[in-house]
Amino acid sequence: MSVPSRAPGDIEPDRVGWPSRGEIDATDPAKALQGELLWAIENRIDYAPRSLQRRLGPSEIGKPCQRRLGYKLAGVEPVNPGDTAWYPTIGTAVHSWLEDVLKWLNGHLGTLVDGGPRFLLEHRVNVGTICGEDITGQCDVYDRATGGVVDWKIVGERQLKKYRENGPGDQYRIQAHLYGRGWQRRGMPVNFVAVMFLPRDRLLREAFMWSEPYDEQVALSALQRAEGITSMVRALGVGALPILPTADDYCSFCPHFLPASTEVEEACPGHPGTSTYVRR
Ligand code: SF4
Repeated sequence: MSVPSRAPGDIEPDRVGWPSRGEIDATDPAKALQGELLWAIENRIDYAPRSLQRRLGPSEIGKPCQRRLGYKLAGVEPVNPGDTAWYPTIGTAVHSWLEDVLKWLNGHLGTLVDGGPRFLLEHRVNVGTICGEDITGQCDVYDRATGGVVDWKIVGERQLKKYRENGPGDQYRIQAHLYGRGWQRRGMPVNFVAVMFLPRDRLLREAFMWSEPYDEQVALSALQRAEGITSMVRALGVGALPILPTADDYCSFCPHFLPASTEVEEACPGHPGTSTYVRR
């Protein structure tokens, strides 16, 4: 059977969700174009290669719900996949733009005494081990002039208000200290860790940066907790899931949330008192 030739980069109309001829309103080319453009955007987000990694990364280690981490470690398929991940996509796009901004800033600030750039950007650092396996993550910014480690977060208005009033919460705080440890293990001085919250839908002047002195013990305690969860899942498999403690961690947005589920090995009914709203 001959395969029709296709120029490199051509899209494949047979891929899932591509609007069929019947669905395209031929009388309204703008509407037809809208369908095609949205398909392309959703396709790039939904079909992006998914990590099948079963080990925890620095951005997850501080998640308050141990059962949620257990689902990932046990490789349980999500039951609450949610809508197309548009907000995370905005976050990723802004991260890449910010990297360009700091590359530009590096050029304008010249070089340090040893001839290197001031800001080290998007470096992979090794933050420590869990059950003997190296845990690595990509750190947004390390500033060689101040010994500061910065993580960008692009957030909505309500989150911004919450972080400004209450600080970054365990998950982001621990992530920042883990990156701090990653740099420390590379032999770099780490004086403070910071999370720069940038508004997704407000004016830039509402940006807020949280910071505190680097404390290796924050990272070590988090790694120890993650080691306990990992050991339990390795020993008991999905049998560990009903035993692992839960916490209120935006259950409606948890990929494993299924209201009234009785098979916790497959899906979670949520932390007691959680809303039964499902994000689909
Ligand atoms: S639904 Fe809530 S309690 Fe259950 S695993 Fe997810 S975050 Fe934890």
